[in-house]
Amino acid sequence: MGKKEAVKVAAGFVVTVLLLVVAITLLQISFGIKKEEQGLPTQASAAPVVVIDAGHGGMDGGAVAPDGTAEKEINLEISEILACIMEVSGVKAVMTRTEDVMLDGEGLTGSAKLRDLKQRLVIASQYPDALLVSIHCNKFPLESCKGLQVYYSGHTEAEKVAETVQESFLKIDPANHRQIKKADTSIYLLNRAKIPSILVECGFLSNKEELARLKTEEYRKMLALVVAGGILGVI
Ligand SMILES: [Zn+2]
Repeated sequence: MGKKEAVKVAAGFVVTVLLLVVAITLLQISFGIKKEEQGLPTQASAAPVVVIDAGHGGMDGGAVAPDGTAEKEINLEISEILACIMEVSGVKAVMTRTEDVMLDGEGLTGSAKLRDLKQRLVIASQYPDALLVSIHCNKFPLESCKGLQVYYSGHTEAEKVAETVQESFLKIDPANHRQIKKADTSIYLLNRAKIPSILVECGFLSNKEELARLKTEEYRKMLALVVAGGILGVI
C-alpha cells in the first residue's frame, strides 16, 4: 500500500468512527426522550434488557457464501457492535455467545443443533422482561434473491419491534421492499421463545452485491446502528 492510499484508509477509518460516535449520541438522545415519553425505567431502576443472539457458531457455520465466508462470523460481529450500541444507550445487552462456538457441545447432527438452540432459549429465559434479537444472514439458490427481512414471534411487542426495524432498513437500502413475517414452526427459536423475539436476516450471502457489503466493517456497523435504532424506537 502506498503512502497516499494509507492516508486515505486512515482518513476513512477516522470518518467512520466519528460517524459512529455521532450516531450513538443521537440514539442516546432519542432514547432519553423515549424513556421520558413512555415512562420506562430510568437509570435509577432496572435498565431494559436485550438478549442478543449471534446465530450459529463453532461447527455450525450457518449459510456459507460461494467464497467461503460463513454466516456465523458476520452474525457475531454485527451482534457485538449491536451490544455496544445498546450498552451506551442505557440498555443492558446479554449475548448468547461471544466466541466461535456452539452452545452445549459441538456437532453437526440435528440433535447437536437442537441442543444449541435450546441453550440459547435457556439464556433468554433468564430475562423474562427482555427482548430477544437473533442475528442471521440468508442464502438462496437464486443469485438475484436479496434483501433484509425481520421475522417475529407471536408476541404483540415483537411485531411492533419487527416493524420499526424493517422500516429502519429503508435508510440503508431504499429499494428493500421485504415485509416483516411472523415466524412459523420452522424457526425454532422464535417459535419456542417465551419472551418477545425477532430474527433479523441481514442479507443474502448468495447475492454478490450483498455479500460484498456484508464483508465490510463499515456496512456491519451501519447495519448494527440501524437495527439498534429500530429497537430503541420501541423498547
Ligand atoms: Zn442463520
